Amino acid sequence: MENTRLRRDPVSLRWVVISPSRAELPFPGLPVRPPGVPAEACPFCPGNEAKAGPEIHVEREPGSPANGRGWWVRVVADKYPILHIEGGLEKSAEGMYDSMNAIGAHEILVETPEHDQHWAALEVLQLDRILRACQQRSVDLRNDPRFRHVIWVKNHGLPTSLFQHQHSHIVASPFVPPAIEEELRGFGTYVRWKERCVLCDVVKQECAVGHRIILQEGTVLAFSPFAPRFPYETWIVPTDHAHDFGATRTAVLRDLARALQGIVTRIRHLLNDPPYTLVLHSSPLGEFTREEYHWHLELVPRPPQVLGLEWGTGIYINPIPPEVAAERLRQAVR
Ligand SMILES: [Zn+2]
Ligand SMILES: [Zn+2]
Ligand SMILES: [Zn+2]
Repeated sequence: MENTRLRRDPVSLRWVVISPSRAELPFPGLPVRPPGVPAEACPFCPGNEAKAGPEIHVEREPGSPANGRGWWVRVVADKYPILHIEGGLEKSAEGMYDSMNAIGAHEILVETPEHDQHWAALEVLQLDRILRACQQRSVDLRNDPRFRHVIWVKNHGLPTSLFQHQHSHIVASPFVPPAIEEELRGFGTYVRWKERCVLCDVVKQECAVGHRIILQEGTVLAFSPFAPRFPYETWIVPTDHAHDFGATRTAVLRDLARALQGIVTRIRHLLNDPPYTLVLHSSPLGEFTREEYHWHLELVPRPPQVLGLEWGTGIYINPIPPEVAAERLRQAVR
């Protein structure tokens, strides 16, 4: 079977990850939540560090040994990466169709040493550590000139999650994800028309009318957007304009940690601890950076039955190559 490749749909110009290696993972839309891995076998639990692999980034107690116990947050390579770190960006064409190597980085941020801990129960300090680790990776990954964008996605309690131990995904891609491209068009149009940032204007208007605000923590505002796609969709936005999450000041990160805890706690109480997807949207990197962008987070409880990663990024991951699908369907007459 062929390796993972990025293929571009010629109509929508959307890059899709064709990833036969993910065929063994639970199929998206699986109706039951798998039992989950017990703490003894959990690769994200202290004592099992070797199972999760060497740490790319870590915050740990002073003096504790690398890749051993004593960490607070830990970043490792994903064992089932949608994009692979090795190799060059080989682009190729098959007639009119474009494809390229599925180059990128796919890392797991293990968010707490405790196996069964909800974000709502974490201390703000711990959430702050999570955010700092995420920022650190975003800054580090941009040194790789192959990458145009870094996105951070957290799925909580989704039926497709293999591990219930709190973790999130950091994905660096060689293209700008469709979800960001779409927003960039909106930011670009508005700034040409009004010479202002659309999200700065949204923040001003929401603060003026007030009835869609959920909470404010210092420089971070959380509100229900005017035209949400999903019930209880929540946007979490810094009130001062900033395009690059990687450059966020420590004080803003602390406000963000408080805001996230407030939102997650409310969602948990009101909706009886639903699954949710949280995604960080920030400007593309390097020469593709766009200062009119305004970074933010979007949270959706009970996201539709697709992987949260796909919803949050617009990057679709398909484990069945179309040639295989067509062949199986051709054979399936009887
Ligand atoms: Zn665990
Ligand atoms: Zn702005
Ligand atoms: Zn967004």
